[in-house]
Amino acid sequence: GTKNFILERFPLDQKNRSLQAWDSADEYLIDYINEHHPNCQNILLLNDSFGALACYFTEQGKTCSAITDSYIAQQATVHNLIQNNLNADAVTFFDSLATPSQHYDLVLIKLPKNLGYLSHQLATLSQFLPANTPVIAGGKTKDVHNSTSANFEKFIGSTHTSLAVKKSRLVISTFTKTPSQSPYPISWPIEKTDLTIFNHANVFSRDSLDIGARFFANYLPQGKKALQIVDLGCGNGVIGLQTLKQAPEAQLTFVDESFMAIASAQLNIEHNESEKMANCQFIQGDCLTDLDDESQDMVLCNPPFHQLQAVTDHIARQMFKDSYRVLRPGAELRIVGNRHLDYHEQLKYLFGNCKLLGSNKKFVVLSAKKR
Ligand code: SAM
Repeated sequence: GTKNFILERFPLDQKNRSLQAWDSADEYLIDYINEHHPNCQNILLLNDSFGALACYFTEQGKTCSAITDSYIAQQATVHNLIQNNLNADAVTFFDSLATPSQHYDLVLIKLPKNLGYLSHQLATLSQFLPANTPVIAGGKTKDVHNSTSANFEKFIGSTHTSLAVKKSRLVISTFTKTPSQSPYPISWPIEKTDLTIFNHANVFSRDSLDIGARFFANYLPQGKKALQIVDLGCGNGVIGLQTLKQAPEAQLTFVDESFMAIASAQLNIEHNESEKMANCQFIQGDCLTDLDDESQDMVLCNPPFHQLQAVTDHIARQMFKDSYRVLRPGAELRIVGNRHLDYHEQLKYLFGNCKLLGSNKKFVVLSAKKR
């Protein structure tokens, strides 16, 4: 193409502004489609992270639908469409558990790192794609394994991979198979409890309880008070669920930017504490943007430490800032973190205080109070 796009990563105010909002796999996919499928009209995009593919193909006059698990990816796509003077309504979004019913003549996938999520996505495609639809995926060479191709062979049809270009590779397939069921959600018990945890395909620590979350379980609030508590970055909701067990009057707000996280958390409360559903709300959002100032008695958090491939603490930082804003005076942020991270310093700086509640070889549990 000849047009240049302005593409930004989300959130916008990251320290490391040199990180790009697209990669060589996007470029490779675009070149491949221009060469082999120039006349395709309705494109289904999976996991387009900041909207690079959506912008490019919308500008080409094609109709795009986008499936993503990420609220931030959706927001970034809309932002980048508008920035490039493209119609933001031109792209139809589906959440990651949806099965679209429109007709597509091409499917483009940015390969997720998580193979379970890929198999969920391919199984879902197998339920509605017309026969012979081309399904083309792109990703970093190091993320394209034999198991990646094997998944395409299993759910889509005969598959080959391209040569590597600028450290990216394409997985090229055509849909010929019969419909398959996704193996997700999967479930497992938490030892020494009567809890069963359900996990949709793209949930953090979907195969077992996160070891940070396991340690944090010893430091969760308990008692009879009707506190308003946030489980921030809730994943499958284990932290909020265990809190509800020992603080039965609490009102819990589960927040995550991942759609599958929110769906899993909801499933887990329904399954394990169904009578408490009325005391819970579930929000897919970016940090605590959707909560009012000074509205909460406590925020519990096991913060994320990377976004896509980039290791960064900007999200944790934003979570701490947002927590300060939504907490009532006297209320508390309680977190678990790897002990080598400087969360202690950050909390001290933001809240003016920070107490160590517990530690082991790997983790610390920290508490900061809004004065
Ligand atoms: N609480 C769960 C646990 O302990 O197993 C999950 C913790 S995991 C370390 C961090 C979570 O933060 C992930 O579920 C991730 O999707 C979520 N997250 C990442 N960025 C976010 C954002 N900007 N807003 C809300 N949640 C976010």
